[in-house]
Amino acid sequence: MLNGIGASEGIGIGRVMIIKEQTLEYTPKEVTNIEAELARFRGSVDKFCDNTMAQADAIRQSTGEKEAEILLGHIAIIRDPFMGGEIENLIKANQCAESAVEQICKMFIDMFSATGDDLTMQRAADVKDIRDGLLSILLGVEEVKISDAPAGTVLVCRELTPSMTAGIKKENIVGIITETGSKTSHSAILARALEIPAVLSVPNAVAQLSSGEQVIVDGDNGEVITAPDQAQIDEYSAKREAFLRERRELENYRGKATASADGTEYELFCNIGTPKDAVKAVDADGEGVGLFRTEFLFMDRSSLPTEDEQFDAYKQASLILKGKPLIIRTLDIGGDKEIPYLGLEKEENPFMGFRAIRYCLKNRDMFKSQIKAILRASAFGDIRIMFPLITAVEELREGKALVEEAKADLKASGIEFDENIQVGVMTETAASGVIADLLADEADFFSIGTNDLTGYTMAADRGNSDVEYLYSPFHPSVLRMIRRIITCARNKGIPVGMCGEAAANPAMIPLLISFGLTEFSVSAPSVLKVRKNIAKWTKAEADAVAEKVMSFTTEKEITDYLNTVI
Ligand code: PEP
Ligand code: MG
Repeated sequence: MLNGIGASEGIGIGRVMIIKEQTLEYTPKEVTNIEAELARFRGSVDKFCDNTMAQADAIRQSTGEKEAEILLGHIAIIRDPFMGGEIENLIKANQCAESAVEQICKMFIDMFSATGDDLTMQRAADVKDIRDGLLSILLGVEEVKISDAPAGTVLVCRELTPSMTAGIKKENIVGIITETGSKTSHSAILARALEIPAVLSVPNAVAQLSSGEQVIVDGDNGEVITAPDQAQIDEYSAKREAFLRERRELENYRGKATASADGTEYELFCNIGTPKDAVKAVDADGEGVGLFRTEFLFMDRSSLPTEDEQFDAYKQASLILKGKPLIIRTLDIGGDKEIPYLGLEKEENPFMGFRAIRYCLKNRDMFKSQIKAILRASAFGDIRIMFPLITAVEELREGKALVEEAKADLKASGIEFDENIQVGVMTETAASGVIADLLADEADFFSIGTNDLTGYTMAADRGNSDVEYLYSPFHPSVLRMIRRIITCARNKGIPVGMCGEAAANPAMIPLLISFGLTEFSVSAPSVLKVRKNIAKWTKAEADAVAEKVMSFTTEKEITDYLNTVI
């Protein structure tokens, strides 16, 4: 058996097709006819963009608009004057187009890879795809043909690039195995969109498997079973049937209200990163957006987005949501989220450092322009502002004062906005949990960010495998923190949501119902599952589970017990 990361759920049973990387080798040479070389480079960009457009059309038909957007993003990156300009500068300094492309792409790949942040690292995968596409054109190398794969194929490759995905015929590919990628990589996003089971980050998968051999891809557990016997094939075929049945059943929850078994209604929102993701939220039957991570508007570019650019993005998201709530989190950079052009200094301890609201309050012009953009967009829908990483009441007050200043500026210019816009706090630090009673007096709502709250409460870095055993929202300390935040909000009569990953965890749901959470914000694919899980519990049943859970002393006792009741 081979192990990796289960990145797209379901079971696939089929035969391996190895997709080998193309060799893109060349000997760098000095060019003398610079104009001709520039024309060759520009021609390759045009062809690359034409190819990409065609691939995007294909993927739009086979998979959907959102997936086509990933490919269209490649055009935006290579057409960006900064990247193209840097490549042309090297050509003007007598480098051949191949080495200029490679060198500048490498610079971007290194920069994005160094962040350690999954989402920024995705940009590195995009740039690799662009580099390979351009080099293939410049070197006249043929593209890999996945579209010829026969029915029952399990694709095995080092990395599944968006351009490769364009060739996938959904009915023929039953599984995907790659050597790289994480749950949030494009490969994973695309595999999930295509509903193809996928196991990523399997070390040496290409060398360990051979074309034609039979394998089972278990996308739930991140396992690849090699040379399966008949008993295994029967077992996994049954699992596959059960999985497909569940997927069909979930569709029964589409269009329904989100309510517990005894009828208490909850808001069920989605987390998004770009305005286009709002389409996913609507398609997934989300009832709004509980977290718009605005840092994505600031990435993939070489300077700050202007107020107008931000306004357009927030307005677009709001219009897509057609009046459904949109909670926009102000810029949350620093820690694991880097934006190179801001020139933030390297810190000894970035997670404890100059980040998020701390950075924004010290860079008031930038912060105010974001707030003004949000306010202007609030004239077009139900928009709310949320501040990340609050640790002290003063930060909330300062942030709110800036909102008032921005309102006064807009009023003076006669620009419309929602006068009563709500301003909430993302409770994701231990401090915010401890002073939740004080914050609840001055915030319009809370949203619990368990991804960070777990790390800050347990003093355990989510990316460090040595302390991974501590990084669980089911530790008694984290659960007490969550319960406290919810209780403080309820005591002061403000809504309280959860937008961290834990909100979608079936074992967490009865606890949240019992503690009194009012809103869940989850990734789009989890919406129907969370609605189904909420519908399973009455308040009395959830209270009984919570009472038992809060009587335990260790995380193991808690998770062992919860596994028996979900
Ligand atoms: C969180 O911290 O729980 C959260 C939702 O925010 P992010 O993952 O963007 O830090
Ligand atoms: Mg966070």
